[in-house]
Amino acid sequence: MKQAQRTEYLIDLNKIEGTGDFPCPNCGVIISPEDETESVYSISETKLRDESLEQLVILCHRCGSKIRVVGFLSSQSGTAETETETGS
Ligand SMILES: [Zn+2]
Repeated sequence: MKQAQRTEYLIDLNKIEGTGDFPCPNCGVIISPEDETESVYSISETKLRDESLEQLVILCHRCGSKIRVVGFLSSQSGTAETETETGS
C-alpha cells in the first residue's frame, strides 16, 4: 500500500495559546516554531509580506502532513480593528 496522500492542515497562531507550540493536527507531535533542529518538522515554504512572516508551510516528519501556519500578523483576521493606539 503506497498512498502518497498529503493532507494539508491549517493552523492559526491566533487561536493558539502559549509560545506558539502546537500539536500536529494529524499525529499530535508537538511542533515548536523555536525548534530549529528539523528533527520533528521542516519548513517547506515561507511567505513574506512587507518583510513580515505571513505564512509558513511546514512538513511533519512523523506523519508527513503538510501544515499551513498562518496568523503571524496579528492584524490579519481583522478582529474589530482597534483605533491606532498613540499612547496618551
Ligand atoms: Zn504529524
